[in-house]
Amino acid sequence: MLPMVALVGRPNVGKSTLFNALTRSRDALVANQPGVTRDRQFGICRLLDNPFLVVDTGGLSDDPEGLAGLTSQQSMQAMQEAAVIAIVVDARDGVLSYDHQVVADARRCNRPMLLLVNKTDGLDADQAMADFSVLGVQPAFAVAASHQRGLGPVLEELAARL
Ligand code: GDP
Ligand code: MG
Repeated sequence: MLPMVALVGRPNVGKSTLFNALTRSRDALVANQPGVTRDRQFGICRLLDNPFLVVDTGGLSDDPEGLAGLTSQQSMQAMQEAAVIAIVVDARDGVLSYDHQVVADARRCNRPMLLLVNKTDGLDADQAMADFSVLGVQPAFAVAASHQRGLGPVLEELAARL
């Protein structure tokens, strides 16, 4: 069984784009419409010496009254099964309350976490990183999934954690 990295975060932050970049596939559905990934999607990342599983998740709960709060059951399950939780946020939108909720839900899973501040292309990445430091998730990385930018340091970190 390969170790698993869970990509979680609110809809439209770029989780599926990241999944595709890591697994070099077009398996995950990428769309402009929030919430388009309904089910968990698994792929294998072979960019390190040791391959690992990546799971892409939808994000928003159909059942906001459920145990998991706003984070969907499938995202919760993915986080619980993961060796490392990668929380994805959108540098263009800044910090939203749902990001805090995802972090809170992820913390409850007691796994190593990392923060991927996505869509930093064309932005002041340092400013974005400073903004997202309020989430208190370390280490944090500035990335641009759709430009395959910033993924090297993320992979190095995963190599050390998995
Ligand atoms: P998900 O809902 O979190 O899975 O998000 P998607 O991967 O479907 O991406 C949502 C939108 O953000 C799509 O239009 C992507 O092309 C766009 N996107 C993803 N990554 C980046 C990025 O690094 N930079 C920019 N500018 N757009 C991105
Ligand atoms: Mg998606």
